[in-house]
Amino acid sequence: MTHVFHRHLRNTPPVAVAASGMTLRDAAGREYLDASGGAAVSSLGHAHPDVLAAMHAQIDRLPYAHTSFFTTEVAEQLADELIRTAPEGMSHVYLVSGGSEAVESALKMARQYFVEIGQPQRTHFIARRQSYHGNTLGALAVGGNEWRRAPFAPILTPATHVAPCYPYREQRADETPEAYGLRLAGELEAAILAQGADRVIAFVAETVGGATAGVLTPVPGYFKAVRAVCDKYGVLLILDEVMCGMGRTGTLYACEQEGVVPDLVTIAKGLGGGYQPVGAVLAQKKIVEAMSKGSGFFQHGHTYLGHPVACAAALAVQQVIHRDGLLAKVRDDGIAFGQMLRDEIGNHPHVGDIRGRGFFWGVELVADRGSKAPFDPARAVNALIKKDAMARGLLCYPFGGTVDGRQGDHVLLAPPFIASRQDLQKIAALLAESIDAVTRAAAAQAA
Ligand code: PMP
Repeated sequence: MTHVFHRHLRNTPPVAVAASGMTLRDAAGREYLDASGGAAVSSLGHAHPDVLAAMHAQIDRLPYAHTSFFTTEVAEQLADELIRTAPEGMSHVYLVSGGSEAVESALKMARQYFVEIGQPQRTHFIARRQSYHGNTLGALAVGGNEWRRAPFAPILTPATHVAPCYPYREQRADETPEAYGLRLAGELEAAILAQGADRVIAFVAETVGGATAGVLTPVPGYFKAVRAVCDKYGVLLILDEVMCGMGRTGTLYACEQEGVVPDLVTIAKGLGGGYQPVGAVLAQKKIVEAMSKGSGFFQHGHTYLGHPVACAAALAVQQVIHRDGLLAKVRDDGIAFGQMLRDEIGNHPHVGDIRGRGFFWGVELVADRGSKAPFDPARAVNALIKKDAMARGLLCYPFGGTVDGRQGDHVLLAPPFIASRQDLQKIAALLAESIDAVTRAAAAQAA
């Protein structure tokens, strides 16, 4: 009997006992190839010696100091490094313990910014359907995953949700990708005007959608048009790169590929690569200046802000990424990986769409390719794929996303950046076996 409050209370997962490189091992001696880095976390794989050494050195020197009394050398170094490599105009880094904390902090920074500059009437956030920004109440309020929100909806702060950029399902047949992007930006503008242009704090979006609709890559020009709409009405743009940032898509920030700079950007997962819980908000100069000239402080805080060991891990992860040229590797091998997936499952009758960038890929499963109808949620296809893949020694990240008001099935792949081409090929082949076994069984049951 377990006393750990596991997410699934009726079945306890296997006990992980060791990990190194691309592989995790459980107490029964089974090995698993890591194709998702947990939930797109382990960017450098497991037990990377340089990260471990940096953490050990920090623990020996200074394991903890509270930020209301001190800053630390390592927090300063990490912030310097993040600003050095950040999108233009970012001036400060707010160091927290994970993605939800980063999103909460960004929402509050945005709100306080308007209080500081004399626009306290701005109280409303606009975000997107089929999005995920974290499970704390503020982050959940802007998130657009119906299933995650449902039990808590009555206690969430109201927010407006506009359409995500989801070409596979929502781009019209007579529309170019560019026209589709402009239509979506028009929908955002209409939502801002419906709310009252001077009442909106920010538009919040994942640059590349992650854990709700299986890697939604934006169409060309979409984010530029969104940025222009935000600027027109003085609305801030908050990009959530908790999952897609820190090199996952082949550039350190996914927004670099969109040619836009947000006012605030959140990062987490790949920042610490799983070695420590760590996240951050990067803020544009104007936001920090408004606070420093106004009240002089950010009215927020958490006990573990800028935790020294977390900063040491994150700094080491950053250094390894640049030293080992991993961004270029992710770009090149990512193209090859996409091709491997298309070769293995591109023609599968239950694979509706394969999309992604760098080492961030999503596979959308359907009951019928022609109609794009999802499987009946009662078939639990995504849960069965997770189980089947684990039995084959593969860790991928399947989940349900809302599709036309129903729960659809997606598989997210986010291998560590150190994956070799052979690893990638093995991932594609094992995933193909799992998808085939589970979807055929589900289709047969439905028939
Ligand atoms: N934002 C995004 C885009 C995410 O993918 C996640 C986690 N899946 C979060 C926020 C929340 O991060 P955390 O689980 O570290 O709180």
